[in-house]
Amino acid sequence: MGSTHRVTLIPGDGVGPELTEATRRVLEAAAATAGSSFDWDRQEAGVDNMETAGTPLPPAVLDSIRDTKIAIKGPITTPIGTGFRSVNVALRAELDLYACLRPCKTYPGVRSRFDHVDVVIVRENTEDLYAGIEYEHDTDAANKVIEFCNTLQAKQIRPHSGISIKPMSEFGSARVIRYAFQYAQGYGRQRVHCITKSNIMKHTDGLFLAVFREVAKDFPDIEPRENLVDATCMGLVQRPEEWDVLVLPNLYGDILSDLTAGMVGGLGVAPGANFGTEVAVFEATHGSAPKYKGQNKVNPTAMILSGMLMLRHLGEAEAGDRLEQAVAAVLGEGARVTYDMKPNRNDPSAVGTSQYADAIIEKLGA
Ligand code: NAD
Repeated sequence: MGSTHRVTLIPGDGVGPELTEATRRVLEAAAATAGSSFDWDRQEAGVDNMETAGTPLPPAVLDSIRDTKIAIKGPITTPIGTGFRSVNVALRAELDLYACLRPCKTYPGVRSRFDHVDVVIVRENTEDLYAGIEYEHDTDAANKVIEFCNTLQAKQIRPHSGISIKPMSEFGSARVIRYAFQYAQGYGRQRVHCITKSNIMKHTDGLFLAVFREVAKDFPDIEPRENLVDATCMGLVQRPEEWDVLVLPNLYGDILSDLTAGMVGGLGVAPGANFGTEVAVFEATHGSAPKYKGQNKVNPTAMILSGMLMLRHLGEAEAGDRLEQAVAAVLGEGARVTYDMKPNRNDPSAVGTSQYADAIIEKLGA
């Protein structure tokens, strides 16, 4: 007997609604293969909401996610010059989504310079240079910080410097590192690589590494590895097959997740998820691609694969595996795929977002 899963569904804006609709249909078909279903709590957020609700992130959206504990969302545009902050950033902050998961895997049929890539990036999402603690050069605050720091050490900060603070805590490091090990254990992975620049930033990256060594002791069946971020960039492109789960502080995680997304075919196929202690929000890596809005054109693979991650998170491993096989089969055949998956982007045989979803649903036998 299957289950009914209550999930918050956020279509978003730009191409979000059409991608979300394709994903919803595919997820329902995949869940049905295991006798399961969804009870969607549909919530509107994004720039289109600013006129109707006066805010791109109505409180009802957060209430719904806190209630269901799980959401899948389409991309949301960050309005420029309106005074509203990014909905994506606000969601992460409000729900304390501290771990960003970005699995990157090559599928036959997706053009890439690399094959045999199957890496999982786990990025810390709340600290590091992204904490947003910055002082503009020549302001009183910057001058005070410089003056104070210059009393602490022989090395002097130059006058007129801008300052960004890089806070990394034991607590923030431990919870994301533990998440990475738990993910590795839960999904049959062999190794977790801790990626830092601990030889240079001894008290931030060095702390992250020290915490990694401690947390690793609780997971004796997973091999802990330690790598420097610069050597990792080279190693990833030279020997992609040697890497497994990578756990990284915020900044390196941001950069390396784009690197690995590029290694497996780019934005159209890069899924993602954000985890907090209580809730999980699944979403593609890419943005709202406003210029393609309403054209039934863009590739829903990234959002559909984010849905696959969600199925597995919900305990629907078989449905998740079947969905992955169906996506891989359609991509591998290369016939009923979107324009960006064709060797020539003007190929008239490319299908639309919705028709690509139909092809996956057919493969699921639904
Ligand atoms: P974008 O990812 O929206 O688009 C960049 C380009 O990538 C597009 O023009 C398109 O050519 C291609 N592309 C993206 N997704 C694709 C898909 N599914 N299929 C085929 N091609 C695809 O990046 P952007 O233009 O920098 O950002 C647009 C808006 O999205 C901005 O407001 C940005 O803040 C927002 N954004 C939102 C999220 C999110 O919701 N999590 C993430 C990133 C950016």
